[in-house]
Amino acid sequence: MDSTISSKEHQLASAMLNYTPTGIAIFDAQELRLQEANTSYFDLMNSLCERPLEERCPHKPGVSLLEFEQNAHGQRLVAKCRTVIATGAPYQAEDVYQIAGRDTSYWNWTLTPIFDEQRNVTHVLLTLNNVTSQVLARRQAEAEQVQLSQANDRVEEERQRLEVVEAVARCVRETLDPVRIGQIAMDTISTHFDITTACIHAAHPEQRVFKLLCACNPHPADANGFKTMEYIPYERLTFTKGVLTEREPIVVEDLQEAAKSGIANKQSPLVRSGVRGYVCIPLWFGDQLEGTLVASFRAPVCSHGSEVCALLGIGTHIAAALAQARLHRTIEKERTRLRAILDQLPEGILIAETASGAISYANPVAAQMLGIGSEEIISIPLHRHNWLRNQIETTIDGRPLPPWNFIAIRALCGETLTSKETVVIRPDGSRIVTLASSAPLYTEQGLMSGAIIVFQDVTAHKTLEQHKNEFFSIANHELRTPITVIQGFAEILQLKEKQEHNFDKLTQYALNNIADQSHHLARLIEEMLDISRIEQTQFMLHYAPCDLLSILKHVIDSQSGAARQHHLRFCPEGLQDSDTLLVNLDEERMIQVFSNLINNAVKYSAPGSTIEIGLKLRPEKPQEVLIWVKDQGIGIATEDIPHIFKRFHRARNVDRSHSGFGIGLYLVKEVITRHGGRVWVDSQEGKGSIFYVTLPLDSAPVL
Ligand code: ADP
Repeated sequence: MDSTISSKEHQLASAMLNYTPTGIAIFDAQELRLQEANTSYFDLMNSLCERPLEERCPHKPGVSLLEFEQNAHGQRLVAKCRTVIATGAPYQAEDVYQIAGRDTSYWNWTLTPIFDEQRNVTHVLLTLNNVTSQVLARRQAEAEQVQLSQANDRVEEERQRLEVVEAVARCVRETLDPVRIGQIAMDTISTHFDITTACIHAAHPEQRVFKLLCACNPHPADANGFKTMEYIPYERLTFTKGVLTEREPIVVEDLQEAAKSGIANKQSPLVRSGVRGYVCIPLWFGDQLEGTLVASFRAPVCSHGSEVCALLGIGTHIAAALAQARLHRTIEKERTRLRAILDQLPEGILIAETASGAISYANPVAAQMLGIGSEEIISIPLHRHNWLRNQIETTIDGRPLPPWNFIAIRALCGETLTSKETVVIRPDGSRIVTLASSAPLYTEQGLMSGAIIVFQDVTAHKTLEQHKNEFFSIANHELRTPITVIQGFAEILQLKEKQEHNFDKLTQYALNNIADQSHHLARLIEEMLDISRIEQTQFMLHYAPCDLLSILKHVIDSQSGAARQHHLRFCPEGLQDSDTLLVNLDEERMIQVFSNLINNAVKYSAPGSTIEIGLKLRPEKPQEVLIWVKDQGIGIATEDIPHIFKRFHRARNVDRSHSGFGIGLYLVKEVITRHGGRVWVDSQEGKGSIFYVTLPLDSAPVL
């Protein structure tokens, strides 16, 4: 019964051993002969061996392992078995098998000593497992792990870069101060990277120097001091010279290696302080180099590493901030310069703002002219100033004048005004006359932002002019009476001579001369009086419909006597002598105008020459009549032409033989303009002149 059970147990045990996937074999300790082995052992050994197992005796029971010794694996196995037998310590190993034509396989071996009762090793139990699939799975897991951790590193680097850039970008949104932005950049860099130093320099191209903006030195022990870096002339740049032209960062991956290979100077403080990585980012904004961002690292850096990428990212923001600061500085400098100019100007300057209607700038002269401190003028709306309320609209000579602030208000309404006389009444009651010009100021977008008003104090000038006019008018009146008397007596004597013919030649000549010259003097006095009348606004015109043709004929007739040596020719184009051309005008003044023009033509052309007085109606301008006086005289130089209608102006080509004061044409222009007409000259020096006059045919007179 017992033996039945035991044989059954043996059967079961042997079945279990045979079906287990682990190969199991027992070798005796003396000769390492295979005693017993399960099926898995033979299968596994079969798959391990290069030739079928049947041909290989060592794997048959009774065959010794020693026969395997010529094979490297066998040799190792025998050696391990011997160690196990000698030490009595079990052995476990993972082995790789590479058999030509087959995949690499991995095996797990154990050698376990089996002892007898005296603790002698009698047998060695070998177990064998094919762990190829586990090993491969483990290897793959390990490779994936490595990839994952590399990806993690990259994400971490990117996160660091973004954090640095974001910190600086956030700062740029809060402030435009480049020092503050630079400091934030320095702090963030030193928090995220192991730097030795970092600094930002601003470029000053006019002085060809980089000026230290801010610096960071997280390890003061490494300090080389930033003192020497406060100003770096462009010329002192060595291997960073490239920043002046290149936009790419200068990266020295390992400064120590660079020094060894002679690229960097061994004696440079950076090399001597043990710096490894070095990065210099040129800060370009458009075409302008704004500065540099430099950082040095304790460890080597890589050209595409996170440090370089982060520095490049913040570099863009810092460059923009530096550009902004530079533009701001330039504008501020220009503003100060402009202010200084305005402050120094001898004219009073005011700038009024459209939005507030207040004066935002008054130069010292303006403040003094208005009799108020600059502080008080500024920021108070124009209509709130006390001194504007009681403006009285009359001035020194009693003429009505607008208060000065009208000019400012009109400019704020978009009007441009030039040389307008205005009156300023100061808080102390004193008043001055100013010549004011004003113009609206526009923004680049064309919006009106304010107005500029320029004042000139002309009180002294005006007072002087008034005195002069008073003097003229008194002197003229005083001269007029004796001249009229002389003229009267000369005419009586001329009449007497005509009737009695009893004067000798000399007396006749003297008498004619007295009459001509007193007539000339009377005309001059009359013109002088006209000037003071114009200035005192007492120059009145009396309009009535008159025949322009007969006026011209009359003037030509009366001038013919004085112009005996010239040929005066009347050429009315398209009109008959008998025609009439009615124009609303002041006849006396019109006679004065044409007398003046003909008189000048005679005066400034050689005896014997022809003077043409013409008139025509033009179909293209049916509303006006054109009259001209053409001579072949000395003409007028081009540079004199714009001035000859001004008071007292005489051209350079007139000499002492041409009498005159330079008043005639001024009066001509005044009279014609007041009639709503125009006068101009077309002249060539040495060839002659044509004076043109237009008069409106039906328009109302300009008062
Ligand atoms: P004046 O008394 O000097 O003639 P006007 O006012 O009549 O003063 O003329 C101003 C200046 O214009 C003259 O001095 C002269 O130089 C120039 N002028 C005027 N008419 C003529 C002309 N017909 N030919 C050349 N120059 C002229």
